[in-house]
Parts: sequence; C-alpha cells; structure tokens
Amino acid sequence: MSITEATSAPAVLPAHDPATLEPLGQFPVMDAAAVQAAVARARRAQDAWGRTSFAERRAVMRTLRDLVIERHEEICRLAVRDSGKTMTDAALGEVFPVLEKLRYVIANGAKDLRPEKRGSGILAQKGARVEYHPLGVVGVIAPWNFPFHNLLCPTIPALFAGNGVVAKVSEHTTWSAEPYLQVIRDALVAHGHSPELVQVVTGYGATGSALVTSGVEKIFFTGSPQNGRKVMEAASRGPVDVVLELGGKDPMIVCDDAELDHASEQAMLGVFTACGQMCVGVERIYVFDSIYDDFVARVTAKARSLRQGAPLGDRTVDCGAMTMPRQLEILESLLDDAKQKGAKVLVGGRRTPGLKGQYFEPTILVDVDHSMRIIREEQFGPIMVIVRVTGEEEAIALANDTEYGLGSSVFTRDRKRAERMAARIRAGMTVINDYGIAYMIQSLPFGGVGISGVGRINGREGLRACCNTKAVVTDRLPLGKGVSVYPIQKTTYALVREISSLVYSEGFTARAKHAAKAASLFVREVRARRS
Ligand code: NAD
Repeated sequence: MSITEATSAPAVLPAHDPATLEPLGQFPVMDAAAVQAAVARARRAQDAWGRTSFAERRAVMRTLRDLVIERHEEICRLAVRDSGKTMTDAALGEVFPVLEKLRYVIANGAKDLRPEKRGSGILAQKGARVEYHPLGVVGVIAPWNFPFHNLLCPTIPALFAGNGVVAKVSEHTTWSAEPYLQVIRDALVAHGHSPELVQVVTGYGATGSALVTSGVEKIFFTGSPQNGRKVMEAASRGPVDVVLELGGKDPMIVCDDAELDHASEQAMLGVFTACGQMCVGVERIYVFDSIYDDFVARVTAKARSLRQGAPLGDRTVDCGAMTMPRQLEILESLLDDAKQKGAKVLVGGRRTPGLKGQYFEPTILVDVDHSMRIIREEQFGPIMVIVRVTGEEEAIALANDTEYGLGSSVFTRDRKRAERMAARIRAGMTVINDYGIAYMIQSLPFGGVGISGVGRINGREGLRACCNTKAVVTDRLPLGKGVSVYPIQKTTYALVREISSLVYSEGFTARAKHAAKAASLFVREVRARRS
C-alpha cells in the first residue's frame, strides 16, 4: 500500500523544499488504527522472512546495495529537495554510510548473529549457548536531518536479523519517504519476498507515539532528548525495549601541538557539513591559548569563502538550507543570548540576505563561555562556537561540562596525550585527529551517554540489539537426568550448604573439611530416602 493512500484520517501534512520554499505535496497524518494496520501487514510478511537463512537475507542486502549504487543520483536529489542539503552532503552523509553499513552487514552479519557457545560453569553435564532470534516487528522513528540514511540505517540491521520494520519518517522530510521505501521493496521483491515487510507511516509526533504503543517488539528512536523521554515513558507501558539515539553537543579539543591545517579543515567539516544539522556535528571547539589566534584566523578565512545557495541550482555551493523552519529562530535566539553575554560574531550571524529559502549564514562565534545557552543547548546549525582554554585540564573540564555525551574529538600530534585525554572525555565516542568518523566505521557501536541516548546501534552490538538474545541449555552427555531434591530430608539443607561450600571455598584445607562433611551427609541422606 502506498503511503499516500494508507489512511482515512482527514488531516494532511504539507511538504516543501526548504531551499526554494516550493510546495512538494501533502501526505496523510496517520492515526493509531493506520499505524496498527501497517504493523499487522509487516507482521504477516515477517512470519516467512523470520525463517529465511542468512544467505537469503544477504542476497537481498547485495541487491539493495546494487540498487543504491544504481540510483545514487536520484537518492541524492530527493534528499536535496526534501532537506535542503547539497548533493555532496547527500552523497557523503546519506549514501556513503548506508553503503558502508550494507558492506558491513553482508561481510559480518551472519558471523555476528551466529549462535555462540558459552561455558556452563559447574553444570559441566550441560551445553550452553546464546542464539540470536528475530524479535518480530520493530518500530523505527526517524528525524529529518538525513532522510535516506535515517530510514535505511536502522532498517538494514533489523531486516538482516529477520525482523519486519515499520518506520515513522519525520514530518519535515516525508516527501522522499516513498521512493526510498521503494528501493528496499524492490530489493525484497527481486528475491521473491513480500514488499510488505517494510512499512512507512507518516504524520507528526502523535503518529510516532502510536507506533510506540502499537505492539511492536522494539523501538529504535532517533530524535531530540525531549521526545526521547516521552518515547521511553510510553514504551514503559508495554513494556517495549527502546534504543534512543538523541542529540549531541560534541566537543572538539585543539591542543597546542595539533596539526593546524588539518584541525581547522576538520572543524570546517564538523560544523558546516549539512549546515551543522548532524547529531555528531562539532558544536563546541576548545582551542589552547597559544594557538588560538592562528586557529581562529584560519577558520575565519575559510568560512568567509563558503558559498551558499539553492543546492540544485548550482552544484558548487558549499552550504545549503536549514531543513526545519523553526531552526532559524532557535539559531537567532542562541546567538542573541551569546552576544548579550559578550560573545563576538566574526563571520555571518544572521539569516542569509538575498536568498528566498530557509538559509542561515555560515557563522564564526568567539569569546564564548559556559554561561551562554549556545554552549549548553544543541544548536544543530552552521555556527562555529570557539572557546579559548589554558590547557589540557581546562579543556577536559569544559568538554565534560554538558548533559550530552555523544561524540568528541581531540587534535594533537602526541599519541600519549591523545589517549590520556580521550579516556577522560565522557562520551559514547572519541575520535583522535578527526571528527565524527566513528560513524563510518560500522564495526563500532554508535550511541551516547547522558541525555544523548540509551543503547547502541551499528556493529555487532547494533545487530544484536535487533534480536531476541536467547539462552539455550542442552545435554552434553546423553543423560537427561537432573538431581532429585524431593522428598526433602532433615539432612537436605545441610548437604546443599556443604556442597556449595565445597565448590566455592578456596584452599585445600577448607575444601577437604567441606568434602568430608558433604560425604557424611550424603550417606545419611541416601539412607533416609531408602527407609
Ligand atoms: P524530534 O524529536 O522532534 O523528532 C524525531 C521523530 O520523532 C519525528 O519523526 C517525530 O515526529 C517523532 N516524534 C515526536 N514526538 C514523538 C513522541 N512523543 N513519540 C514518538 N515519536 C515522536 O527530532 P528532530 O527535530 O526530527 O531531529 C533532531 C534531533 O535528532 C536532534 O536532537 C539530533 O541531535 C537528533 N539526532 C540524533 C542522532 C543520533 O544518532 N544520536 C541522529 C540524528 C539526529
């Protein structure tokens, strides 16, 4: 069923191109009944899919990879129109990580989800293993910043683990959802599987909320901490397990021995890629005093040369538009607060004059301190926020002075210093001499601490998070007989106590004492049972 005909609910959701303000169409606001119908469709399809082999699932993933490569340009153009980013941002942020995830899952998925033998401890007669079974149908709730990636990246491991998926796409990027869904469905159909296995539902927060309580087996939510809390609260009614990928306030520390050409280039990428609308965007830059002026001069010159405009009109623009209209007001309010408290704008600092869409100028802000909202609240925009620090201790203290804890980075030529500082940063990820690339290493788990999230996606951890982790105990010997405790005798408790003391005590003397007592109690127990 198409997302444009899936509900009888009257409300509609309008979509527009943030770079040109051109209307893109209207989409249904789905109610709880429509969400449940989507879950039921996915569940019917999952019945057969959950019993497919890894080889069959891998074949679908290979076809999906080929389709993504084949439709690269179309996928990027859709993302550009729906979210306002440039074609290069779409290629780097939407398609590259999806292809890398597919590569990882094709190469490692079966290995990561293979049953795993475990030791059986004192129950030596038993075999023990962990198996990774499909959960059933999982719900994916996505934000707007990378519409293709946000839909595909949770869906790929969920499918590989044998699940069906119902995805609630963002109300700000609904227009691209159907063609993106079609890519996945084409891959499924090419191998004779039901396209109904993956469903997309559309609407606002209430539709997402309906998905949380629809009976799905797990929710993968990516979005803001405020809504993450609501999702967790609603999920507790099930209870339904949740993975929450929430916001970030990632610090970048630039030490006095950093390679400044490289550090300033990475700072530019970390702040201005997709106009800063990235969860692992660089939101705070702490620069050591002795190189501060040099660093600021470099990024200021680079930021002045950035070209901004409608990304489909001119493929050479560096910065596109802001996807969400309200983000412009948030940026203005954060900048106003910072300026009032003494911060200085060196470049940009306002809505881009002369452009019709939702644009904010690439901005450099200095003389920032921790009393300002812009250092505490996620800005999700193209503002480079620079703080001067005296050295290592102050940099670490300020980097950790946040409720968030997603990514982080340290720039230094000294490996020991890098390791020492990285270990002290409270975050889900720390990258040395780079920013954000932990996401591209798909063998690594991705996620945050503090209000940045709960649980992990990516890597072995992410694949296993899509599974019912099942403990299985078997007979190692062809016995099948357990110990009989009933009827309990006067000696039974003492016998159990002595056996446990014998097994867990340390040292020959203690063990010998408990062994002797256990033997005598055992004889009395056997006699009592026979009489
Ligand atoms: P958001 O929380 O407003 O919305 C995210 C999704 O949740 C949308 O689809 C929305 O409709 C839905 N939603 C809203 N209220 C809900 C509710 N009560 N129950 C269920 N669903 C609900 O976030 P956003 O503005 O779309 O995205 C920006 C945020 O996402 C930023 O904080 C950003 O850092 C974060 N983000 C995090 C990651 C990560 O991996 N950690 C990645 C991308 C974005």
